[in-house]
Amino acid sequence: MIDYKKYDRYIKKFKNRSILDYLIKNEIITGNYDDIISDLIDDEISMINDKFDMPIKKCAVKALQSAYFCAKNGMASAAFENNRFFLERLSLLKIISCMDIENNPYELALERKEWHELINNRFTLYGSAQFVGKLNHYYGKNFDVKNVSVYTTGIPLCGIHSKKFAMYSMDISKIEKETNIKINEKCSKCDKKATRFVIALPKAGAIIGLLGFYNNKDTRNIGKLYADYSRVLHPYGFYSYPKEYLINLWSLDLIRLFTTINKLIF
Ligand SMILES: [Zn+2]
Repeated sequence: MIDYKKYDRYIKKFKNRSILDYLIKNEIITGNYDDIISDLIDDEISMINDKFDMPIKKCAVKALQSAYFCAKNGMASAAFENNRFFLERLSLLKIISCMDIENNPYELALERKEWHELINNRFTLYGSAQFVGKLNHYYGKNFDVKNVSVYTTGIPLCGIHSKKFAMYSMDISKIEKETNIKINEKCSKCDKKATRFVIALPKAGAIIGLLGFYNNKDTRNIGKLYADYSRVLHPYGFYSYPKEYLINLWSLDLIRLFTTINKLIF
C-alpha cells in the first residue's frame, strides 16, 4: 500500500479549492509533476489489476489512461471528465465486489451494455438511502447488504413484465427461501402479483453513498470531488487554460483523488 502521507504537501498546494477556480482564473501551478504522476498511475493500475478480477475493471483503467492523455495534451474538460468517470467506475467495482452475488446483475448489465436499458425503464436508485431503506423495510435493522437480498432494493414485477429482464432479476420465492422472509408485492407496472425483483441501478450519488455504506465510512469528501468534476463540465465546459500547465493542475487533483478514494477501495 502506498504511503499517501508523503503527498500531503501536494494536496496542501491545492488548498481545498475547486478545479473551476483555477480554470476560470487561468491560475497556473508551476513545477514538474509528470514523473510522480506517471508512477502513481502505474501503481494505481497494478492495484486495480491485483484487487479485482472482473473484466469491467478495464473501463476504470482506460478512464485513467485517457484522463492522463487529455491532461498532457491540454484538453481540460476531457481530462476532468475522465477523472469523474474513473471515480464512478472504481467505486462501482468495489461495490460489486462487496455484494458477493453470483453472476452479479450490475456487472452483467455493464458487461452486456444493457445498463442504460434498465435506466430507460426507470429502474434507478438515486441515493443510497433508497437502497438501504428497502433492505430495512424487508429485513428490519439486521439487514444484510450481501447475497440475494440485494435484489429487494430493485423493482417488483409480474412474470410478464419481468420477462425481458430475466438476467437482471431474481425469483421472489428464491429470495424468500434464501433469506428467510415473506414478500408480498404487486407488479409495479400492472398491479398483478409480483413474481420477481428486477435490480435498480444506482446513479452516481447512490454509487458514492453505497461505497461508504459497504465500507462503513463517510464518503462526503468523494461526493465533493465528484461535484467538482461535474462543475468543470457544467455550466461552462470550455476554458482557455494554458495548455502546458494543465498537467500540473490535473496531477495535483489526481493525487487528491487517489488519497481520498483509495482508502475505501484497496
Ligand atoms: Zn406486471
